[in-house]
Amino acid sequence: MRAVVVADEGFRIVELERPRPGPGEVLVKMLACGLCGTDVEKLEGRYRGSKPILGHEAAGVVVELGDGVAGLEPGDLVVPHHHTNCGECYYCLNGSPTMCPSYREYNFFPGGFSEYFTVPRFIVERGGVYRVPSGLSPLQACLTEPTACALRALKRIHDDKTHSYAVVGLGPMGITFLQLLKWRGSELIIGLDVNEARLEMAGRYGAITLNPQRGNAAEQVKRLTEGRGVDASIVAAGSPAALSLAITLTRRGGRVCLFAVPPHGSQLQHDLSDLLVREISIISSNAATEQEMREALELVSEKVVDAEGLITNRYRIEEFGEAIKTFKAGTGLKVAITP
Ligand SMILES: [Zn+2]
Ligand SMILES: [Zn+2]
Repeated sequence: MRAVVVADEGFRIVELERPRPGPGEVLVKMLACGLCGTDVEKLEGRYRGSKPILGHEAAGVVVELGDGVAGLEPGDLVVPHHHTNCGECYYCLNGSPTMCPSYREYNFFPGGFSEYFTVPRFIVERGGVYRVPSGLSPLQACLTEPTACALRALKRIHDDKTHSYAVVGLGPMGITFLQLLKWRGSELIIGLDVNEARLEMAGRYGAITLNPQRGNAAEQVKRLTEGRGVDASIVAAGSPAALSLAITLTRRGGRVCLFAVPPHGSQLQHDLSDLLVREISIISSNAATEQEMREALELVSEKVVDAEGLITNRYRIEEFGEAIKTFKAGTGLKVAITP
């Protein structure tokens, strides 16, 4: 079987033996797997958050069950979660499940950009393999994990006093945020990007769009919010400049969610007194739990998240190099790999 793996030169498409599921494991035939910014960062050695295994936004069909697996059958269309938390450690018991030491310990083998992969027992046992409701295609279903991450980020910054939002960076995650905010009934949603094509797409999802390279975004946002700035900003572009911009768009006492992964070693250049004087909270959000996976699968099924609009490019495993080029060019939104 073909699989994409991390190599010294970035990635390599290799021919591997199809894995056999060990006790408690599930063998999945990949049907679709979204390309995430963290995959590209792993290829470039810029992401240190987890092991260099590529492809985690996967959907596929169960082919074979290891001994002792209950509740799944060969032929089931599933979305497996690539990480899960133990539920018993200090972090799990004290409100930081995605910081559980076991969370990043386990992953698909050899990864999601592979014709077949196994899901480890640790994840299967904890219910991290979800049956996809009928009527949902593998391409739609592979948006479950990124949607789950966005959902958890919103939970971390949202309360009933958060009425207006700015989303900085309108790639696939930024657009996902716009859709979730609209579904939540947010009163004002402003999307910012320097890419005109993406601004146009964001406009279609009901956001007011601004290009920070064409005018003073902070002033424009103030005009839209009676001079205050937005209640909360979401940083959906992985650069320190995006975080700094998000801070300037946010009202006194507001929240900024750091969602996109900045490159390892990058520094925030921002007047720190501004954070304190204006009482700005920066809250990061990293990954999602099984709770959000379940909720996200429901939202994807209900078409709250528009898969057709989001997935703009598809490539086969052997075209992985093209997929990376398209991702970097930023001409589309979500890039998905199919076998
Ligand atoms: Zn991802
Ligand atoms: Zn734990």
